Amino acid sequence: MMISGIDILNIVESEKFIKATTSVTYNSEKKSSSSSRIGYFLALLLFTLLTSCGEDPSFPKQFSQQQISKGEYIYRRQDEYLFRPPPPTPQPLPIYEWKKELSGKIPAVTKHHFRCHGKGNNPFKQIEQNGETRYVSDCNGPSDHSLPIKDGQEFVYPILIDLLNYIQLKTENKVIITSGHRCPDHHIYVDNSPAQSYSKHMIGAEVDFYVQGLEDKPEYIIDLIQKYYLDTLVYNGQKDYQQFLRWEKGNSDVITSPWYNKEIYVKIYRKNEGRNLDNLHTHPYVSIQVRYNKDNGEKVTYSWDKAFRGFYRH
Ligand SMILES: [Zn+2]
Repeated sequence: MMISGIDILNIVESEKFIKATTSVTYNSEKKSSSSSRIGYFLALLLFTLLTSCGEDPSFPKQFSQQQISKGEYIYRRQDEYLFRPPPPTPQPLPIYEWKKELSGKIPAVTKHHFRCHGKGNNPFKQIEQNGETRYVSDCNGPSDHSLPIKDGQEFVYPILIDLLNYIQLKTENKVIITSGHRCPDHHIYVDNSPAQSYSKHMIGAEVDFYVQGLEDKPEYIIDLIQKYYLDTLVYNGQKDYQQFLRWEKGNSDVITSPWYNKEIYVKIYRKNEGRNLDNLHTHPYVSIQVRYNKDNGEKVTYSWDKAFRGFYRH
């Protein structure tokens, strides 16, 4: 079919007419369509919300759920039935804080070595005291009570600890404390002799000990104790500390005359002396008492209050 030039003009004119008509229609319907647009957006929002929890499109689709949960195979040899871990290698034990400090090659003596040696499973003991027969029981040691308390802390006179560490340092042998602090229960159980009624063991101011390897040389230990005062700077030039005298009064419970200076009083118990429950070993032993507290300038004496109320009972 042939289209003439007049026809083309008609078509163009009719298109212009249609566009104009549409524009008029659109303007007239603009107001009525605004309410339907809100409804459209609401529907779109609902659709988005409903479809947003669906499958993650970024997840690779080539793996099925069954394939993903399959895990890894554990391969083992045909003759292997049990997994054998490598044999453990021995590790050195960690050192306790209080053992880190040494005197020579030996762990240092600390106040903890002075704890009461009472044992709760010891049987009742019959004793004679002030003309009466009594039955006494031992304490249960450190699980029953503390060391003597001073300023809120467990306390043993420092000179005793310093002397024992000096002896360990010089001899390179271990000091064995056979009796340090004794609570009154343990003390009466160990030794109820009248001579020991006011023992300074009960206030942390007395210690009984011997030295391993030098058990039969207590005089050598006495020499070392005297040497400590000559070697230690704070006693330099102080004659009443550096010069020891012998106690000749005869009111002690040992044959060998004790030694003393301003600060301490030292005794040797021979093999047949001083065999109380804490010292049932067969060695001679040395006992040191504190006489004078250099730190506060006071005499160190036993008192009932310090002995019976000076420590915590658990
Ligand atoms: Zn005790």
